[in-house]
Amino acid sequence: MIMIFITNMRSMNWNMIIRKFVSIALATVLITGLVSACGNTASPSAAPESADKVVNIYSARHYDVDAKLYTQFTQETGIKVNVVEGKAEELIEKIKREGKSTPADLFITVDGGVLNNAKQSGILQPVESSVIEGQVPAALRDTDNQWIGLSTRARVIVFSKDRVKPEQLSTYEDLASDKWKGKVLVRSSTSMYNQSLLASFIALDGEEKAELWAQGIAANLARDPEGGDRDQAKAVVAGIGDVAIMNTYYVGQLFNSDDSEEVKVAEQIGVFFPNQETTGTHRNISGAGLIKHSRNKENAVKLIEFLTGEKAQALFASENFEYPVNEKAEWPELLKSWGAFKAQEVDFAEFGDYNKTAVQIMNKVGWK
Ligand code: FE
Repeated sequence: MIMIFITNMRSMNWNMIIRKFVSIALATVLITGLVSACGNTASPSAAPESADKVVNIYSARHYDVDAKLYTQFTQETGIKVNVVEGKAEELIEKIKREGKSTPADLFITVDGGVLNNAKQSGILQPVESSVIEGQVPAALRDTDNQWIGLSTRARVIVFSKDRVKPEQLSTYEDLASDKWKGKVLVRSSTSMYNQSLLASFIALDGEEKAELWAQGIAANLARDPEGGDRDQAKAVVAGIGDVAIMNTYYVGQLFNSDDSEEVKVAEQIGVFFPNQETTGTHRNISGAGLIKHSRNKENAVKLIEFLTGEKAQALFASENFEYPVNEKAEWPELLKSWGAFKAQEVDFAEFGDYNKTAVQIMNKVGWK
């Protein structure tokens, strides 16, 4: 091109020369651009991203045991674990927004309803692993394996050992009767733990009975709901109420607290598993979903296999006092002392299906 330009130069005026220069410059820019664009699209396929020793998690769990488990996984496999923490709903929105370019490989959260929301929103894909199927009972996995349970949690009745005998306790329904007027403690209805508890009653007994129960609880409260689950146990020991509805793993955390006052609280309360003769104790689940556009799918599946393995499962129980999903995992002494219990048989997806109704009921009956 330059040769042709030089040979023609004598026959051109300055105006033409400038125009020619501009067209050559533009052509050069265009060619360079095309070459580099081809280079850009070519390089990632030359080095497949699945070869990266990394797995990226978007997590709504906020427990120390999780970080410990990820470190162990990296030590065993050399696969680095990156975690973005956030609220479950926000993380689901983020993954939807990021679409195919999301860096997320796994979505980890608590609550069966939320896990089902993630599935319904189309951000997950089925996990294919016979290892996982062998480690996690079908009832603790999504029907299409789009999410896999990592741990379960029981929402029980905790009582003052001084003022209440376990024989006085029986069911969640009983807590709504007149005999517990002014004695029941439970956190706010804004807590997903309570929303899913009520959703489970809607699934088991229907909307009408569930509403009567919520009405009875709201009428029997010892005080307006405040604080988290641990604060309900503290209020029982402080004599504000006699019984509290809370998750068992918080009792474990109180027992193992660095704060001696919290240990004293744990020593003064008893744990009661309600509805053993009827529908069973309310159980919720925490789990991991495989992201549809995961770029490190193999590593992500490996991490779920690790987290549902016996050793990791025992750590969920011994460090965070959650119940293992793997039946072979060892229980710590505290869980053993509470004993095995009959759990509700409810499809976890129903917690999501009935969430709106549960919230409406709680608002209606004045459960703040
Ligand atoms: Fe919690």
